[in-house]
Amino acid sequence: MDMMGNKERRGVNFKGLLKRNWLLIATVLSVLLGVAALDSEVSGKIGLRAVIYYFSTTIIAVILGIILVMTIKPGVSQTADHIDRAGTTPNVTTVDTLLDLIRNMFPENLVQACFQQYKTKRKELEPPKVSEDTTTIPPLTTTVMAAVENITKNYKIIGAYSDGINVLGLIVFCVAFGLVIGKMGEKGRILLEFFDALNEATMKLVQIIMCYMPIGILFLIAAKIIEVEDWEIFRKMGLYMVTVLSGLAIHAIICLPLIFFVIVRKNPYTFTLGMAQALVTALMISSSSATLPVTFRCAEENNRIDKRITRFVLPVGATINMDGTALYEAVAAIFIAQLNDYALDVGQIVTISITATVASIGAAGVPNAGLVTMVIVLTAVGLPASDVTLIVAVDWLLDRFRTMINVLGDAYGAGIVQKLSKRELERMDLTSDMDVANP
Ligand code: ASP
Repeated sequence: MDMMGNKERRGVNFKGLLKRNWLLIATVLSVLLGVAALDSEVSGKIGLRAVIYYFSTTIIAVILGIILVMTIKPGVSQTADHIDRAGTTPNVTTVDTLLDLIRNMFPENLVQACFQQYKTKRKELEPPKVSEDTTTIPPLTTTVMAAVENITKNYKIIGAYSDGINVLGLIVFCVAFGLVIGKMGEKGRILLEFFDALNEATMKLVQIIMCYMPIGILFLIAAKIIEVEDWEIFRKMGLYMVTVLSGLAIHAIICLPLIFFVIVRKNPYTFTLGMAQALVTALMISSSSATLPVTFRCAEENNRIDKRITRFVLPVGATINMDGTALYEAVAAIFIAQLNDYALDVGQIVTISITATVASIGAAGVPNAGLVTMVIVLTAVGLPASDVTLIVAVDWLLDRFRTMINVLGDAYGAGIVQKLSKRELERMDLTSDMDVANP
């Protein structure tokens, strides 16, 4: 154990995986390419409608997740030996939290942002040095250590440190860079093709790395089971999974179909049925990007969506519209806070909703990408980034279901944008007919 009572984590070296940066590169490139495509490949109106749809449904998913996790409280202890750790919550104001978020959006040095610790103004919260003489240990430390010893043997206690990469800063840079590239026309195309090739190579590499993930997870679970003295963890993990899965189900069965019905006035469940093959593929391979060919086919052949719409809305959606991932990120961050007895104030909940949205936009459409961008959400509210390891053991399953919802959200988006863009499409058809008639 270290000074703060943190156990060395065994099993998957997730931090090592992060440092290898492959998923980060995939994330950064997918944002850059998605944004560049947005500007150069579609007419502004269609793009704007798609973006409004992406944002509003993602925010709905995040709010739904937050309501569920705050109601079900999967991470809250029910055991009698629960120690009230009031006072261990870092003394960070809402303003501080929000300002940290903004500060980190604009890194002073881009290269540094790839490797250095996430900047935070919480240095004063560093844990006090533990003295040999326990009578002189300050009350806060005593509480923290007692809690670590007695309850959270498997968990890391909240600290002032926020380790990891400044992903948020990198994403903001990529959005700006992508927009500029998109506006550059022919010259920009060279860069676009370069990033596209780099993206493809990175995705392939990530897929290879992910093949070995189950082995790591196997040992991680085995180590956890051996270590566990308190079966309470299983109850908590079970409830956490139920919370995420019920949120995803409500979003897929109620929220998305309702929006679709209000706008398109067609049976949303028939539409979902048309997407069945894509949904099953997403469930099997946990990647919205890899599911894209099947998503195209289902949307175009079964649901009769115009190719001009699907070819923009679906690939950009697979990169930036991830309702399932956003919902999961919000639930997971609050679950981790609950495990740590970390009381979140309103400002921090708002920060979680914003960062979960940003993190889902930043996640590449590859397996477990959402787990990596969780770093943004955790660090933004002062939770240790390494606490992602607490939920890694069940991510292989949750990832499959959230990918399904990501794909479904993109498909509904294509249907809605098609309905809203009917006039523009008809005008384009008319113009091309005239071109054919008067060559
Ligand atoms: N696997 C998800 C997708 O491809 C991303 C995630 O990890 O949440 O859509």
